[in-house]
Amino acid sequence: MFWNELFWIGRALVLLQLIPGILGWGKQGHFAVCKIAEGYLTEDALAAVKLLLPDAGGDLASVCSWADEVKFHLRWSGPLHYVDTPDFRCKYDYCRDCHDTHGHENMCVTGAIYNYTMQLLSAYNDSNSQMKYNLTEALMFLSHFIGDVHQPLHVGFLGDLGGNTIVIRWYRRKTNLHHVWDNMIIESALKTFYGSDLAIMIQAIQRNITDSWFNEISSWKSCTSDRTVCPDPYASESVHLACKFAYRNATTGSTLGDDYFLSRLPVVEKRLAQAGVRLAALLNRIFVSQTLIAQE
Ligand SMILES: [Zn+2]
Repeated sequence: MFWNELFWIGRALVLLQLIPGILGWGKQGHFAVCKIAEGYLTEDALAAVKLLLPDAGGDLASVCSWADEVKFHLRWSGPLHYVDTPDFRCKYDYCRDCHDTHGHENMCVTGAIYNYTMQLLSAYNDSNSQMKYNLTEALMFLSHFIGDVHQPLHVGFLGDLGGNTIVIRWYRRKTNLHHVWDNMIIESALKTFYGSDLAIMIQAIQRNITDSWFNEISSWKSCTSDRTVCPDPYASESVHLACKFAYRNATTGSTLGDDYFLSRLPVVEKRLAQAGVRLAALLNRIFVSQTLIAQE
């Protein structure tokens, strides 16, 4: 029985590895985003997170990849991890682009961010919504998708499925461009610069936030017209970065090495930082309004 189970777990793992690049930022990227966010949460938001994640002991980072783990049995959630734009158009447009392959509207990463924000916000407006929605799942989805929308190739071209069909070599290893941006740049950075220790990489990004990017933080956090959530500019930034950095000099058959790695790593690190800071700002806004409404 035990070996049988191990066999199936093994099969599932092999299968997962055979399906390239569909996992969003890799586990490490998502962990980094949520870890960075945790450092900027207000007391109200921390308390709400703790309440909604009892099994995880309130540790947001440990559940940040949950949405990828359930993608195979919650199949409807697959299209919520990305949004595709028409080929070679480096601009994103919610109405044009946010749908799944069957044309169902709002079924994309930005649509999902609006939806799960609304679910969490409505929890204290409407006592029924605590029954209507699974708020623990809403928080885990939202935290994951804020990460995904910052990965430039999660807002890539439809024709190559956000770089998934662009087969390249990362140094000597055969992979695809999407996977490079989800995982390989981060993995190479860990090995080359951070002694294979994710905590050290996260600390370096946190230092950059307080030193180099300090003046940019308020613009990262702000939402136009005082809205609670504004994922559309994040998607626009991503497709712009996809055109400027991800797709450039990376076509099928390319070998990507030091030049590509060293020029793109700063982009990846800044996107992880922005995602973390913005996730915290969003949760702080959501849970402030909840407290206020709850007190009325
Ligand atoms: Zn994802």
